[in-house]
Amino acid sequence: MFLRWSGYGGTLKKCVIHHVANAVPNSLYQSASLSVRTFSMRRSNFSGLIKQWEFKTTLQTPRPFHTSRPRYINPILLAVLRPLSKIAAILVGRGFRKWWQSLPAKKRELFIQHLLRNKYKYLGGSALLGTASLTYYEDHVVPAPLTGRRRFMVFTSDQLHTVSRHTYTESGDIVMFRGMMDLLENDDQVAAVVAHEMSHAILEHASEQLSRGYLLDVLILLPLAVIWAFIPSDGLALVTQWFLNQVVKVLLQLPYSRSLEEEADSVGLQLAAKACFDVREASAFWGKMSVLDKIREKSGGSPPEDSAWLSTHPSNIERQEKIDAQMEEAISIRNFCQCPQLDERDPRQMVKSLQRQLTVTSSSS
Ligand SMILES: [Zn+2]
Repeated sequence: MFLRWSGYGGTLKKCVIHHVANAVPNSLYQSASLSVRTFSMRRSNFSGLIKQWEFKTTLQTPRPFHTSRPRYINPILLAVLRPLSKIAAILVGRGFRKWWQSLPAKKRELFIQHLLRNKYKYLGGSALLGTASLTYYEDHVVPAPLTGRRRFMVFTSDQLHTVSRHTYTESGDIVMFRGMMDLLENDDQVAAVVAHEMSHAILEHASEQLSRGYLLDVLILLPLAVIWAFIPSDGLALVTQWFLNQVVKVLLQLPYSRSLEEEADSVGLQLAAKACFDVREASAFWGKMSVLDKIREKSGGSPPEDSAWLSTHPSNIERQEKIDAQMEEAISIRNFCQCPQLDERDPRQMVKSLQRQLTVTSSSS
């Protein structure tokens, strides 16, 4: 793995070598021949604080060793199969229920006897299908770039590029809205946010989310068919299906989405450190956001922490705490990269004292 972040002169040379050393084992697992992506962002004279600046990152995967290219399903076919397969599962389950309800008692008895007589055939068939599915799954579990976290991915490297282009912009630019810009106080905070977005792209999170969506869709087919087969009425089956969807969302999708956000925060912090930004500003930013949450809550808005488990993102205070826990490492990366000394004034202090004041006023009121 080769990561280059240009625009900050020669200070990053060592960091580039550091990345190469860390990432080589990962490349052994990847069949991608070449993966190049460029992100750039320009911003001029924002509130007089942010001068024109530009990030570029190039990600390349060398091939010191490779195996034959795995075969993948075409994503367009998957997009069509997705809703169709769910409808099919519902129809099969419902069809079975209707057929069973219309069957005379004697024929039901015969059907059960047939199942019992052939139970080993059916169990064997299911075991074979299960093994084939597990093999397919295992074959598509690949390490994430940089972190090496093993994750399920259905896309080839070419398809990854297509997904990235459609998730971000055709040119590879990361777009930031004015509302976010207004909340950022300096270059270092802008860098923290952009580095977070770059990390999502480098770690291929969009494709990973899509792959996981496909996987969950397949896994849900059997429970769906069972619901429609064994729940005696369509109305009850519909309610149970809705309930199942909520359970999958709260227990499987949202925590996963939050974990990807945390990973992007963590890798983003390292990227910002390697580019010599003041990484403490990342914590200060999320701290400020949590202060805004508290103020909103005091003025009658909904408390964000209460609904954090129903959110795709971790709460602002959680992000601040997790980033703080990684601060020592980020600062040591900065030192390793021979970055200029950090300002003695720690931007987190101001936010921390604001948070303390808010806690004191809320406990005394
Ligand atoms: Zn994010």
